[in-house]
Amino acid sequence: MPRFAGQAAIVTGAARGIGAATASRLVRDGALVLLADLAPEVEQTAAALGAPALVLDLAAPGAGRRLAEAALSAFGRIDILVNNAGIGGSRPLAESDDALIARFLDVNLGAVLRVTREVLPHLPRPGGRIVSVASTFGMAGYPGTTPYAVAKAGIAQFARQLAAEIGPQGITVNAVAPGVIETAMTENYLKNADYRRAILHPTPLRRAGRPEEVAAVIAFLASPEASYVTGQVVAVDGGWLTGRHPPRAAEGIED
Ligand code: NAD
Repeated sequence: MPRFAGQAAIVTGAARGIGAATASRLVRDGALVLLADLAPEVEQTAAALGAPALVLDLAAPGAGRRLAEAALSAFGRIDILVNNAGIGGSRPLAESDDALIARFLDVNLGAVLRVTREVLPHLPRPGGRIVSVASTFGMAGYPGTTPYAVAKAGIAQFARQLAAEIGPQGITVNAVAPGVIETAMTENYLKNADYRRAILHPTPLRRAGRPEEVAAVIAFLASPEASYVTGQVVAVDGGWLTGRHPPRAAEGIED
């Protein structure tokens, strides 16, 4: 039997990238999935999976309630919430105006708290699963991304904090921290040879990741097999967070 048979999930930011790969993986493993995104292209992504879609701005007032209602009306239940939607392209703090700071903190962190609060009462006890997408940039210092990184660090603490609050009810709360993954969010950065080298040089696996590789870990954390895993942040980063590597002259890379 597929591991998510009879279960229903919400995946946010599911129009493309990591969210689309996660929705696809959950559907393949037997879940009913509602794909939510600001981008209307989520309709096509969902249609290709035979799944329903909801176009909405998760940062808008009442978005969490609308999302929960849509999932309940489609499936009659919600077992899994994947908080994946986010915005990238952040700047150094000195170049970040008030609007940019507010937007990065709200979309990448505030909306996740509000949406989760609205979905939470509907999750099964025990058995509910919450998985959010943090970032390695929220786990270690990396210049030029301060508003983004601070919000993502909040997602990591959100997993630990909420796990402690609702663990007694049998709901698990975890996060994944992707490294650099090949999606629309990183496309322009990865075209820059200096950026590629700065990121890939200290990455033991020497390459950027694929959305499916993050989706596989999200699916594990959302699955019954992860029943004793909670409050964790799992890096999916080719080893970037662990790396302290010497120059590799043989590869033409020098510090
Ligand atoms: P992406 O830009 O391809 O996908 C993000 C999706 O979120 C888009 O479809 C976008 O429309 C949606 N979204 C953004 N704001 C929204 C809002 N207010 N309401 C509803 N939907 C909204 O990027 P991705 O790389 O697939 O990113 C997915 C998640 O992974 C993000 O949270 C991102 O911060 C995180 N992440 C990505 C990387 C990477 O290297 N790509 C690394 C670390 C973390």
